[in-house]
Amino acid sequence: MSGPIRVTVWNEFRHEQEEDRYREVYPEGIHGAIATGLSAHADITVTTATLDQPEHGLSVETLENTDVLTWWGHKAHDDVSDAVVERVQARVLDGMGLIVLHSGHHSKIFRRLMGTTCNLKWRVADETERLWVVAPDHPIAAGLDQYVELDREEMYGEFFDIPEPDTLVFVSWFPGGEVFRSGCCFARGRGKIFYFRPGHESYPTYHSPTIQSVIANAVRWATSSGGPAPVFGNANPLESLPAPVK
Ligand code: ZN
Repeated sequence: MSGPIRVTVWNEFRHEQEEDRYREVYPEGIHGAIATGLSAHADITVTTATLDQPEHGLSVETLENTDVLTWWGHKAHDDVSDAVVERVQARVLDGMGLIVLHSGHHSKIFRRLMGTTCNLKWRVADETERLWVVAPDHPIAAGLDQYVELDREEMYGEFFDIPEPDTLVFVSWFPGGEVFRSGCCFARGRGKIFYFRPGHESYPTYHSPTIQSVIANAVRWATSSGGPAPVFGNANPLESLPAPVK
C-alpha cells in the first residue's frame, strides 16, 4: 500500500473519566497511551475515537479511511449500538484490520466475529504476566525476546471460548497457575483480526514500550496487502466452452 497506515484507536473511555485511580494511570485515556505509542512510528498515522462521540466516533467516513481499528472496551459493551457493530463488521469483512485488546474479548464486535461466547476466567491480584512467544517467526513477534514480562496485570485463564486461532503468537503464564492464549490471529472475509490480552485499566501496560511495539507490529500485520477484490456470483467463462450436450 502507498502512504502511511491509517489507524483509528477506539476506546470506551469510561473508567478514566469516572475514577481518579484509572485517570492517574492513563491521564490521556487508554486511547491516548495507545495512540502515543503508535505515533512514534513513521509508517503509521493515528486518530482516536471514543464511545460517547456521535456514532461512537466511527462514522462511515471514518471507517472508510481506517486501515486498522484497535478496540478497548470493558464496562459499556452494551452501549455500543448494533448499527455501529454492523458497520465495523462489514469493514472487517471488506479488509479493515481489527486489533481487539484485553476486555474487548466481550465486545459485541469480537463476539460477533468469533461466533462464540468469548468467556474466560479472570482475577485482579497484581500478578506477573509472562507472555511466551510461541510463533517466533510471526511478524507480530518481530524484535521480541523469548517472552514479554509485565510486573503486574490482571489474570485471564483458560478455557477461553474462542474458535481455534489461525495462528497463536503468545501464550501467557500467571503465578496463580493459569495459562491463557494471549495473542490470537484470525481471518474473517478479507480482514485480519488480532486479539491481544494485556491491558487492564488499573495497570500501566499501554505505556510499556514493548507492548507498544507489539501493537505496532500487529497494526502492520493486520493491514490489507491490497490484493484483488473477490468477484462473486454467476460468472461468464474466460475461455470458450464446448457447446452443451443436448
Ligand atoms: Zn481487565
